[in-house]
Parts: sequence; C-alpha cells; structure tokens
Amino acid sequence: DERAANVFTLALADEIDSSNTQLTTRAAQGAPHGLVLAAERQTAGRGRLGRRWQMRLGAGLTFSLLWRFDRGLSGLAGLSLVVGIAIVRALREFGVPVALKWPNDVLLDGRKLAGILIELSGDALGPAAVVIGIGLNVASPGEVDQPVADLADAGCKVGRNALLAALLNQLAEVLAQFDRDGFAAFRDEWHQLAAFIGQPVRLSFSHGEPVDGSAVGVDDSGALLVDGTAGRRVFHVGEVSLRAA
Ligand code: ATP
Repeated sequence: DERAANVFTLALADEIDSSNTQLTTRAAQGAPHGLVLAAERQTAGRGRLGRRWQMRLGAGLTFSLLWRFDRGLSGLAGLSLVVGIAIVRALREFGVPVALKWPNDVLLDGRKLAGILIELSGDALGPAAVVIGIGLNVASPGEVDQPVADLADAGCKVGRNALLAALLNQLAEVLAQFDRDGFAAFRDEWHQLAAFIGQPVRLSFSHGEPVDGSAVGVDDSGALLVDGTAGRRVFHVGEVSLRAA
C-alpha cells in the first residue's frame, strides 16, 4: 500500500495562526497526502465550535496532518475516535496512562491533556480530504477554562520530536486500517480506553436543554449511546459536549 507508513512530509513553522486553517487552504490547492504542518506557536489555535486552543511558546505540541481517504465523507463517522486511539497508543509507548473522552479529548487523571480537531472537505461519495489537528500539552499551557494536564507534570520527559514521530507512526497505522475497515474494527479497543462508560454523564448542546443519563458506549459509527429516563438515545459527533455528571 503506497499510503502505508513513511508517507509524511513535514513542514515546520515558528508561528502561524492555525495549522488547521493553513493546511485546509493548502489541501484545496492540491497539497499531498501525508503533509504535516507543525508550529512552535499558534496565534489562533482552534478547538471545535470556534473555541480557542491555548498554548504557551514551547509548552505544546500542535500539528495538523492532511489525509486523503479512499472513502467519501459519509464513511468517515468515527474518525475522531480513531485518532484518539492513535494518540493513546503513542502515549502509552512512553508510559503515560491516558483515557479517551467522547468524541475528541484525551484525558490524564480526568483532566484534558490533548484535543483533536478534524475538518473535512470533499463530497459524500468521492475521496475525502481530511485535516486532522492535534494539540497536546507537553508542559503547562497556562490558564484554561477547564481542568488540564500536561506531560511534564505527569513526570514524562519525552521530547516533542520523539512524541511527534510516535504519534505519526500510530496515526499512519490506524488511519490506513480505518480507511479499509471503518470504525467498527476499533470499537472494542475504544471501549477499553474510554472514560465514563457505565457512568452518569451530562450532554450539553449549543442549543437546547442538556441531557442526563448513563454512557453505555458507542455504536459501529462511533455515535454515543446514552440511557436516560426516556430510554436509549444516540448522539452523533457534532455540536455535543460531554461531562461527568
Ligand atoms: P470540551 O473539551 O469541553 O469537551 P470541545 O471538545 O469542543 O469541548 P476542543 O474543541 O477539544 O473542545 O478544544 C477547545 C477547548 O479546549 C477550549 O474551550 C478549552 O476549554 C480547552 N482548551 C484550550 N486550550 C487547552 C489546552 N492547552 N489544554 C487543554 N484544554 C484546552
């Protein structure tokens, strides 16, 4: 498979606005599969729903990866969960016991260590171009509006280069398998790594009332199953945020 390992081209910048924004522009201009854009500092790093990603100079590892899939956008549900699995596998190589929070966060001791921002372009049926952004706290990012964790604080001294290499290798492996087999192939592993399964959670939405219930797990498309007073409900990745309740 010509798109297996060793497919990466690295571009490094001292400072950019947002690596996802830059890479999305380059993708539209025909940038190659496997292009990685990493920046020492992002002045407008983004999370989902226009939220900000905070980083202090030298304290974070942030990069974006362009991945061109054979499948169309409609086959990419569950992608952010699979990217989370790659991050957990890479961090466990360095002895860091992280867990996953649906749909797109990596937690250490219940606090947020890393975030994932996936942006898609293409159409439902043709090959999709996907920009996968990852931000990970190597040292303290400074003030953030929710509890955060960092590797230094956890006693892990891995350098950012070694960490980036491990992340890219794990990403290449899981993304190739995801392209072939979809999310269903990862569902059991995701359940093993997930925080909050079987526990009470609250789901909040940009509009409307929150939903309380017990997190059951995910289905074959990566959608979250929650048992509440009104029975079992299915939540797709989108404008939903999850918290322990
Ligand atoms: P949530 O994390 O509340 O579930 P989300 O998944 O939409 O929401 P992201 O898109 O991953 O969040 O990232 C944006 C959010 O991450 C910000 O609103 C902020 O709370 C948090 N954040 C920002 N910078 C950092 C950082 N360096 N480390 C950890 N968390 C951060």
